[in-house]
Amino acid sequence: MLTVDAIKTQARALGFDLCGIAPAVALPELTHLRQWLDRGYAGDMVYLHKSADTRADIRNFLPTARSVIVTGTVYYTEPPEPVDGPHAHIARYALGEDYHLVLAERLETLVASLREMHGQPFDAAIFVDKHHVQERVFAKHAGIGWVGKNTCVINPQLGSWLFLAGVAVSLDLPADQPVADHCGACTLCIDSCPTGALVDDYQLDATKCISYLTIELDSAIPEAQRASIGDHLYGCDICQDVCPWNLTPLATLDPAWQPRAGRRQQVDPAELWSRSDFELHGLVEGSAMVHTTMSRLRRNLAVVLGNTQPDIAADLLSRDVWPTRRSALSAATPLVQEHVRWAMAESREPKA
Ligand code: SF4
Ligand code: SF4
Repeated sequence: MLTVDAIKTQARALGFDLCGIAPAVALPELTHLRQWLDRGYAGDMVYLHKSADTRADIRNFLPTARSVIVTGTVYYTEPPEPVDGPHAHIARYALGEDYHLVLAERLETLVASLREMHGQPFDAAIFVDKHHVQERVFAKHAGIGWVGKNTCVINPQLGSWLFLAGVAVSLDLPADQPVADHCGACTLCIDSCPTGALVDDYQLDATKCISYLTIELDSAIPEAQRASIGDHLYGCDICQDVCPWNLTPLATLDPAWQPRAGRRQQVDPAELWSRSDFELHGLVEGSAMVHTTMSRLRRNLAVVLGNTQPDIAADLLSRDVWPTRRSALSAATPLVQEHVRWAMAESREPKA
């Protein structure tokens, strides 16, 4: 007999910290995506426009869906001692293994267990971020947490350092209650965002967000936004770091999310720059960063160097050897070269 308690117990046994059930219906918040896209907030994320129709109703994703099992998995790990001197910042979620792969495997195992428990066939389709499902909407309705003003799902006990993933199923399961919004009058995330990307309560203009600029954007980072990227090499955690609901985060002991060897939240940008493309790829291999390109990473590195180590930037970047180094060809791409020129010009600007 398949009960909700049995599903949740099995999910916890597989490493999911939270599990809830949402109804597979056209939830009102699903219409917000279209409005958000129409405002131009998605920038170059064409895949969101292309998948908007599918995302508008979970039954476009799984036609027989009756319920959505949603999971939340804590990825916060104990931060290392802060490093002295300039460093480049990598978002926490990218420090461990590639969550797409790990969570998909765990969800497959969960579905297999549920099939065994249920004893009768049912349809199931898993989703982990890259699938065309509005996870945050279903997370809210599954009682995982509320969507905060920083647009992250926040669980009252565990905070917002959560991977969201789940399974749409053709089973009728009793749904959980949504979690009430606890943001109240707080605006810490909005006030702390260095780029003004949180343009209003619960409204993210992704084109201004450091995560979009350093991860999603394939082309040049607009010049006006480069200085505010600061030391962010890949992603940004600021609006979660400042959130009071993350004040005493529970660090996960799950080996999958522990920072891999050589991958820390704070890395030396000059050392990274001096690496060959092959060596630089070692930073992203096996992580959620693996889909980025070396030229995108070097583009970001040039910006970080220009922002944090202008003297070294001028010295490092002006050497004739690196653009022609066969082992670091990404440095010679027009995209990177243009950011290098910007970083070198930055180094000549007097700093306040
Ligand atoms: Fe702003 Fe960073 Fe949050 Fe993006 S991730 S909204 S840049 S604080
Ligand atoms: Fe909500 Fe404040 Fe957290 Fe922003 S920082 S998500 S407003 S509680």
